[in-house]
Amino acid sequence: MLRAGVVAVQGDVSEHAAAIRRAAAAHGEEVEVVEIRQSGHVPDCDVLLVPGGESTAISRLLRGEGIDEEIREHVAAGKPVLATCAGLIVASVDAKDERVETLDLIDVTVDRNAFGRQVDSFEAPLDVTGMDEPFPAVFIRAPLIDEVGEGVEVLAEWEGTPVAVRQGPVVGTSFHPELTTDSRLHDLAFFDRVEADAAD
Ligand code: GLN
Repeated sequence: MLRAGVVAVQGDVSEHAAAIRRAAAAHGEEVEVVEIRQSGHVPDCDVLLVPGGESTAISRLLRGEGIDEEIREHVAAGKPVLATCAGLIVASVDAKDERVETLDLIDVTVDRNAFGRQVDSFEAPLDVTGMDEPFPAVFIRAPLIDEVGEGVEVLAEWEGTPVAVRQGPVVGTSFHPELTTDSRLHDLAFFDRVEADAAD
């Protein structure tokens, strides 16, 4: 049984819960989804999802509830995280906005609403490392990743800009894989990895 924590202080929580259920079912894996609004639950989770939404609100609430430290410990223990859009902003090392207290999980700096300034939302087929067919990526007021540290693997780019990155057990996307029925990003973040670990 996989215990998947969806950070539920703000954002598209139900979409993430549905997406991880779908992805787990495709792997024949039973999953229990835990919505995380308070401290004390993250330590019980095998994997975590940090949703899209409003990064200033998410970071403030994580801090206020003491969940931020638990997420850092989860990652330090090598357990996987998928952070999408506002989640990626929160997971970065610098969002260039003092209202966002970053978790410093992925060594990237982001510009919070950069894509959104050009066009509010769009869908684009993306070539993602390890995928044979393009991934249908939904961007909504998406952050721009503008600096990538050495330990960070870029998994996908859109028009020359990184939009999916991985550092250790953490995968971050500027777009919203939870808004499609395509589970390949979840496979990449969670299941392929679990299977790879099991094969070791
Ligand atoms: N730009 C938003 C923020 O700063 C994120 C948008 C999203 O998650 N769709 O939080």
